[in-house]
Amino acid sequence: MTLTGNMLIGRQAVAGRGTAIRAIDPATGAVLEPAYPGGSPAQVEQACTLAWEAFTAYRETSPAARAAFLDTIAEEVEALGDALIERAVAETGLPLARLQGERGRTCQQLRTFARTLRAGEWLDVRVDSAQPQRQPLPRPDLRQHQVALGPVAVFGASNFPLAFSVAGGDTASALAAGCPVVVKAHVAHPGTSEWVGRAVARAVERCAMPEGVFSLLYGAGHEVGIALVSDPRIKAVGFTGSRSGGLALCQAAQARPEPIPVYAEMSAINPVFLFPAALHARSEALAEGFVASLTQGAGQFCTNPGLLIAQRGEALDAFIAAATGQLEKSPAQTMLTPGIFDAFASSVGALARHAKVRRVASGQPGDGPNRCQAQLFVTEADAFLADPALQAEIFGAAGLIVQCRGAGQVRAIAEHLEGQLTATLHLDEADHDAARALLPTLELKAGRVLVNGWPTGVEVCDAMVHGGPFPATSDARSTSVGTAAIQRFLRPVCYQGFPDALLPTALRQGNPLQLRRLLDGQREA
Ligand code: NAP
Repeated sequence: MTLTGNMLIGRQAVAGRGTAIRAIDPATGAVLEPAYPGGSPAQVEQACTLAWEAFTAYRETSPAARAAFLDTIAEEVEALGDALIERAVAETGLPLARLQGERGRTCQQLRTFARTLRAGEWLDVRVDSAQPQRQPLPRPDLRQHQVALGPVAVFGASNFPLAFSVAGGDTASALAAGCPVVVKAHVAHPGTSEWVGRAVARAVERCAMPEGVFSLLYGAGHEVGIALVSDPRIKAVGFTGSRSGGLALCQAAQARPEPIPVYAEMSAINPVFLFPAALHARSEALAEGFVASLTQGAGQFCTNPGLLIAQRGEALDAFIAAATGQLEKSPAQTMLTPGIFDAFASSVGALARHAKVRRVASGQPGDGPNRCQAQLFVTEADAFLADPALQAEIFGAAGLIVQCRGAGQVRAIAEHLEGQLTATLHLDEADHDAARALLPTLELKAGRVLVNGWPTGVEVCDAMVHGGPFPATSDARSTSVGTAAIQRFLRPVCYQGFPDALLPTALRQGNPLQLRRLLDGQREA
């Protein structure tokens, strides 16, 4: 099997009619074949029309049938074998082991949503039985469950070529919800996208799912993405990427005659608070953990700990000295794209020139193109509070340590922060009172608050929240990782006064799907 450069529009593998993109190996700068011509406006429309036509039949498939479909996608992705991983390495510069792990996570995500579908909790069935004798007015029979929103546009992410791209978390959760998906592949990894797209297409065929339940488009420039979000048949958007890209898609979605939700995961600096007793007890170990998390994957994670806050003093000095020593040893790593490398170099340059910021450490220089040299900076709380630019995300391995005069300034920094995906506290028992005072603020700022851990490494599970107030995401009520991500693509419908025979199966009186319903205010066993 070889890569073709074709898009997938429903059942057809077709060449795009727009400008072509070619992937670049960021480790060498080599241009990779084949060319991937982008979709024309008519081709975008065709994919959306097919998705809309598929929606009626697809949303009516049973949860068990959709679960089998997700399991089959996972099988087909695994069956791609080494070809997928080799192409992903060439297109992203990410290490082989990382991509093998990411493939495992992608398949686990698909299977986790299959399990969720089978368990049925996601339908959130609520029944309020009729009370015909109620005074002064009788109550009718009322029943609620969740239904699919409609076709979803998914934008592949540059930093997760598998787990947040063609068959990644957004696609898995939308398909689980009963929504057809039209993916716009990320420009940086079209070959990886084609392999995975073909795996999904095979699963569509094996499971006899309706044509149009999945399409894959390429595009150079923003036209394909904007056309997709603007198409009246698309009812929601899943995105991971830059703040500017996410905001552009939100604006396009809001400008439609029928505005739609955009679930954009955009930018975060993931503050880490080091409390005095913990810092005093283990500054070296904390420095080691911090640098490992900061430099993992060249820092190209949305949960990268880019900001560290602590009270000044000997313990913080010891931490900075240890972190400096660790970071100076860290090898340069290839970044995902020349564009991401340029943005990193320019942001780091601006920070190094900032009058109130001191560079304390640089990692090993690289000997090829697009190599990320890790960076560590220090500033004072007053400077951080005075300049909003100091809390802009630098995508890559760059950290800023903010030195505070006391606990009051630590709280002022927490209150000053924008919305975040995560906030981390390193503490000992003697720090509990100070941490307790900070927690109400952090709860308002972040989707996930961690104690004595590091924010990189996001578990795919039921309790995970990978979200947070703006600009971490465009909708603080949602998560894009974990089984609760399905809720983004569902909406509640209430059925009032229905005869049993006309009710959806999940809501029927005899509870044929054996769901744990909220029945007259009580959760069923
Ligand atoms: P990006 O530029 O936001 O692109 C992501 C996707 O959105 C691409 O498919 C892109 O396609 C599309 N897009 C971007 N701007 C658009 C616009 N104005 N209108 C319509 N579509 C648009 O992200 P990236 O390429 O992955 O990386 C660039 C920067 O994003 C990084 O340097 C980093 O700062 C940030 N980033 C953040 C995270 C995070 O998790 N926080 C993850 C990845 C990247 P086209 O360009 O083809 O239109």
